Amino acid sequence: MRILAIGCFHGRIPTGFKRYVKKNKIDAIFALGDYPGERMRTLYFKHSGLAKRDKWGFYDWSPIDKFLGKRRVARMEACDRKDGVRVLQGLNGLGVPVYTTYGNHDNTEHWPYGEIGYNRRNLLEDVIKPFKNITFLDYDTARLGDYTLAFSGVKYPNFYKEDTKRVHAKKVDVRAEERSNLLRMIEDPEFTVVVTHAPPYGTGLDRVNDRKKPGYGQHFGDDVLRGVVKRKQPRLVLCAHFHENQGMTRIGKTQVVCTGYGKKGQAALIELGKTPKARLVRIR
Ligand SMILES: [Zn+2]
Ligand SMILES: [Zn+2]
Repeated sequence: MRILAIGCFHGRIPTGFKRYVKKNKIDAIFALGDYPGERMRTLYFKHSGLAKRDKWGFYDWSPIDKFLGKRRVARMEACDRKDGVRVLQGLNGLGVPVYTTYGNHDNTEHWPYGEIGYNRRNLLEDVIKPFKNITFLDYDTARLGDYTLAFSGVKYPNFYKEDTKRVHAKKVDVRAEERSNLLRMIEDPEFTVVVTHAPPYGTGLDRVNDRKKPGYGQHFGDDVLRGVVKRKQPRLVLCAHFHENQGMTRIGKTQVVCTGYGKKGQAALIELGKTPKARLVRIR
């Protein structure tokens, strides 16, 4: 069975995508989230020094709203959102089953989501409903051939020193719940593929390698995912999120694949046979 894993669309399906899927006889697509366009994302990075933390310890972007004007921000958000829906429409129309989960730029009402998920409208879980070829999975599994697909998405909270005791404790609870959900999903590690958005913590795949970006040189992966992978050793972990880090690494027996920046055609081709084989590709 041949799988195409791709994430970080950010408003655009890469040129030649449809042709690639046909030509390579792709049996299923694992789409790793981040659907909306990136006008706002670009602005957030550019003006990140203006953001403040709210009482929950999350970023409060309202100083940026004031700086750019609320109407302009709303207009850009609407365009980003429309681009995201267009990507989902495109994936739905390929005639191949698509499995997906959340990226950090996809809205959800689950608390706590992350800095960008403050917008409670246009939740991915609602937007995706009309698209019949797309299966949406959130801490849930699906069977594909001999394999269990364990989808977790990205909704893990970040910890900040400004967090109150109560918020900190709540986040600790959420992390514990996510950990037990991941452990529960990996019943037969040899035949489990974990599909998520962010890479496990502490690998080269979760390091900010772009000098111009905030947090340069630091690791921002998922520590709970790393712990679970170390303990359970699933066969394969598929992730994206770090646009500049398309690559592969290992945590013990587990192969970890970061598919990179889907918008620019970066992806991974997976032969899901008895021994899965992954290859990094660039769709043109
Ligand atoms: Zn992304
Ligand atoms: Zn992301």
